[in-house]
Amino acid sequence: MDYHNYSGQSDSDGDTVVSPILDNQPNHLKIYANMPILTTYPHDKGNMPSKMSWGEADPSIRGSIIVGRDAASMNIRNAMGAYGGPYSIYRGLAVAMGDLAHDHKPNFENTQPPIEIEQRPQWSDPSKIVSLDPFGHVTNKYFKKEIDAGLDIRPTIAITRAHMLVPEIQEEVREGRICIDGKIVMNGTGELNVHKGAIDPVWYLPGVAERLKVDEGFLRRSLFENSGGMYPELITRPDIKVFLPPIGGTSIYIFGDHKHLSDPNVRLTVRVHDECNGSDVFCSDICTCRPYLIFGIKEAIKEAQNGGVGLIVYFRKEGRALGEVTKYLVYNARKREGDSAAKYFTRTENVAGVKDMRFQALMPDIFHWLGVTKIDRFTSMSNMKHDALVEAGIKILERVPIPDELIPPDSMVEMEAKIAAGYFTTRTIPHEEDLCRTIGRDWDDVQPSQSANKPPHRPSKA
Ligand SMILES: [Zn+2]
Repeated sequence: MDYHNYSGQSDSDGDTVVSPILDNQPNHLKIYANMPILTTYPHDKGNMPSKMSWGEADPSIRGSIIVGRDAASMNIRNAMGAYGGPYSIYRGLAVAMGDLAHDHKPNFENTQPPIEIEQRPQWSDPSKIVSLDPFGHVTNKYFKKEIDAGLDIRPTIAITRAHMLVPEIQEEVREGRICIDGKIVMNGTGELNVHKGAIDPVWYLPGVAERLKVDEGFLRRSLFENSGGMYPELITRPDIKVFLPPIGGTSIYIFGDHKHLSDPNVRLTVRVHDECNGSDVFCSDICTCRPYLIFGIKEAIKEAQNGGVGLIVYFRKEGRALGEVTKYLVYNARKREGDSAAKYFTRTENVAGVKDMRFQALMPDIFHWLGVTKIDRFTSMSNMKHDALVEAGIKILERVPIPDELIPPDSMVEMEAKIAAGYFTTRTIPHEEDLCRTIGRDWDDVQPSQSANKPPHRPSKA
């Protein structure tokens, strides 16, 4: 194939991307010439998994994580799954369409983080980190020799620097409620200066099983069955302990000096946020997700401006990890049956079988990776997030609920139901009859949204 012909194209962010124009469609017989290997077994001929000791402090002893199915990796793989989580499927499309060479080797020059995340004792404590590779951002540094020799080893963490323009924050800056300091808030347009990171999941299965208090074999079987039998090696290769699952990752946004994240003498404000595309991006008013996220960012900025540091941790766990389709089905059922706080969780359980599948037990790993040992202000009302962090040994000094004036009226149903179920609040916990009275809007209700800075339930349908 000829890769000399390149054309520039723009992606949705306006960045120029270069994709090779191939002279020919991919020759399937040539690329995938052999019969596919549907699965492997520990005692297969030539099978010699590369040494990997999860929890070792020295990366050269810990060993690189090798997951590829190319000829060089196949027999020495020590991980299942694929780089890029769900995006591995798009890679499959790109290769099939001839847009991507099946043997493309990434060029990692100048892709290293602009800041150093200092190695912590937590990195080598397998009871603290089991769901990400603590060396995932420095693979090019520690495993350069192997990469240069042609092994497909890729970073699973990337860190960069960015400027952000958030409309709600820009307004606060214009109104003078957030000041311009030239460092965090850079200028009068409200431009924010941050470091951000993207973290793909890398699961050490024995550690994940232990954390979730389940049997590893049963966990493997359940993952295999519930992903449509996608990774048979979950069953056939008990000797392979690492799994790069096809799920979304996590983003972190750091306001202020990242070095202070691990300093117990410096104040830290945190928001742990689980993705809600409908609210976060499209500003739907049935829940408090975007208002709470923006509040968390504001608090993070203020903490950083006062000499502390702010941290937003954003997990791709849409709709309490039930997915957006399930979420919308539940919305329909709620609206058709009279949307009340009393029935809020029951309707989710009727459709999904559970109230919530986020299982926060793995969430604290990112805090351990960053060296966080205490959080001064935790802008979250979730008892599950709070308890998971505290159980992981991370102190939480203050819990900060979303201010009433930021709660969209229609999301009072969710808010009251969550408070009644144990979410943290500084106001009165609603009784059962209050929950029946807290009702959402009808689809056809045309009354304008009122401020929720009012009694905690709507007296009747407006
Ligand atoms: Zn939401």
